[in-house]
Amino acid sequence: MRIGLGSDAHRLRAGRPLVLGGVIVPHPRGLEGHSDADVLTHALIDALLGAAALGTIGERFPDRDPRYRGISSLLLLDETRRLVEQAGYRVHNVDAVITAQEPRLAPHLGAMARTLAARLGLSPSAVSVKATSPEGLGALGRTEGIAAQAVVLLEEA
Ligand code: MG
Repeated sequence: MRIGLGSDAHRLRAGRPLVLGGVIVPHPRGLEGHSDADVLTHALIDALLGAAALGTIGERFPDRDPRYRGISSLLLLDETRRLVEQAGYRVHNVDAVITAQEPRLAPHLGAMARTLAARLGLSPSAVSVKATSPEGLGALGRTEGIAAQAVVLLEEA
């Protein structure tokens, strides 16, 4: 078994869709970034790469690379899964948490978990996605951005 941890944060900006775990969440502002800036999927990718000691999302999918401009992060997750499997591991389970002052994410968490589970070839019961409020504290509490953290467990295939 190998454990991995991933953490990410992106700024919120008007005029972008808010994509979390591959799900579009209705909101006047979305996350800023080179790809679709799906902060949850980015944290998950970093956890997967970390568990297999395969580097970081920034090394694997550089934001200077025009191929990744506006790309769905689910495609980066597909490639990450391929790398992890090529290294001789399969994903056992995922736990993740999004820290967002707004919008209310509870109605969307199930869809995020199901979407990520499907991309990883896992049963929905192997993926947990939670959300927490920063209770008004700091930059996240001022709704300047959204952060996410993920942990994964890999097992030898
Ligand atoms: Mg990111």
